[in-house]
Amino acid sequence: MRYLILGASATGLSAAGAIRQNDPWGDITVLSGDRHIYSRCLLPDVLAGRRDAAAARFVPEDFLRRNGVRWAGGVKAVKLLPEEKGVAADNGDKFFYDKLLIATGSSSYLPPVENINRGRQVYGLRNLEDVWDITRAAGNCRQAVIMGGGLVGVDAAVSLNEKGLAVVIVEIAGHILPLQLDQRAAASYEALFRNRGIEIITGEMMNRIILDDRQNVTGVQLKSGRVIPCGLVVAATGVRPNIDFLEGTPVEVGRGIKVNEYQETSYPDIYAAGDVCESLEVFTGKVAPTPIWPLAVLQGQVAGTNMAGGRRKIVNNFAFKNSMEFYGLNTVSFGFPEAPDTSYTTYIMESPGSYKKYIFKDGCLRGAILQGDISRAGVTGALIRKNTPVGVAPGKLFDLNYAYFFNQRENGEFVL
Ligand SMILES: Cc1cc2nc3c(=O)[nH]c(=O)nc-3n(C[C@H](O)[C@H](O)[C@H](O)COP(=O)(O)OP(=O)(O)OC[C@H]3O[C@@H](n4cnc5c(N)ncnc54)[C@H](O)[C@@H]3O)c2cc1C
Repeated sequence: MRYLILGASATGLSAAGAIRQNDPWGDITVLSGDRHIYSRCLLPDVLAGRRDAAAARFVPEDFLRRNGVRWAGGVKAVKLLPEEKGVAADNGDKFFYDKLLIATGSSSYLPPVENINRGRQVYGLRNLEDVWDITRAAGNCRQAVIMGGGLVGVDAAVSLNEKGLAVVIVEIAGHILPLQLDQRAAASYEALFRNRGIEIITGEMMNRIILDDRQNVTGVQLKSGRVIPCGLVVAATGVRPNIDFLEGTPVEVGRGIKVNEYQETSYPDIYAAGDVCESLEVFTGKVAPTPIWPLAVLQGQVAGTNMAGGRRKIVNNFAFKNSMEFYGLNTVSFGFPEAPDTSYTTYIMESPGSYKKYIFKDGCLRGAILQGDISRAGVTGALIRKNTPVGVAPGKLFDLNYAYFFNQRENGEFVL
């Protein structure tokens, strides 16, 4: 059996491992735009200089050899040829398969801002090459502007601040990290960032990137008209799936490649998993992209198992979980960060250095933020993921414990 995997990140390599576990003799090839193997989650560390690129690798040095994987690094698929079960690559080669996994992830999205595609020092933060480009540009300027105050934007801001740059974050929402935190929890980080010289501008948008006559970035202009001088812009404004090579093929695409619970696409013998696809998410019950590392790994394992003849369904496809730590302050959040409407009830407990918030509906937890003291995060996340009726008095909420909810399996294991 010939297996071809496009992409060598969380999804692709998890799939390769699962295939090898289920098929000791199959022929596995990984074709990857990346020349190196690294975790994107660790790119902020590399940018800050906290670790070098080699230490961002997330599989053992001998992973490919041990799993008998043929490696084509630095090679991109440019056209899927489903009738001939092949893929044309940008080096002119064709790769053929019996089973194909598309694990090509996503790329930084550059919003329609004047000059964004012309400025020489405008980058996303998605690849190791971005880190090298940003590092080079950071060496030649004193101030950077980060477009977008989500997790990637905040990561980039903290890393550049650690490198000694003045940093300004421009966020369209009323506070940073709007998908993960409420105003109160975000305010704790905003205060910490401001103390370290990171300026935060919320409720604002970028209007234009200002360039000199050689297309070098010299500043940005906001919608309000304010001009911020800078020599570097990092666009952290979301991602788009890498699916150009599917154009004109029958593989169905929505906001990502459409897959079923076996990670099968609409076309026989072609699977997709990770950031490149959209799938049924358990918290919302809706089909959507689920762009987090643990789900890329899980979906890759499911795809790999099924490509090698298994029949494993995806379970626990739960994307609404976040954990973060900046300047020593830990936060974990699950589900909704704010009550979506008045049918939800919110309970808050604050003490010095700790903020806890629980959002309820119909006896079930639908959202939680734990900041500072993150104990009981495990049980809180599991209750939200499983939509388990909690059934404890509000006063007890802040002491949630597995003991209230566990069942015992026949093997003695306690589960929620
Ligand atoms: C800065 C940053 C920080 C993050 N931090 C976290 C975090 O803390 N926690 C978390 O859960 N998630 C985090 N994420 C998200 C996480 O990294 C992704 O969910 C995960 O990497 C998705 O894995 P993937 O394998 O599906 O895709 P990707 O990691 O995007 O990998 C795609 C692979 O496909 C290759 N490729 C692309 N196009 C082609 C092509 N045409 N042909 C061949 N190969 C191709 C690429 O080179 C790459 O090897 C972070 C992401 C970034 C960018």
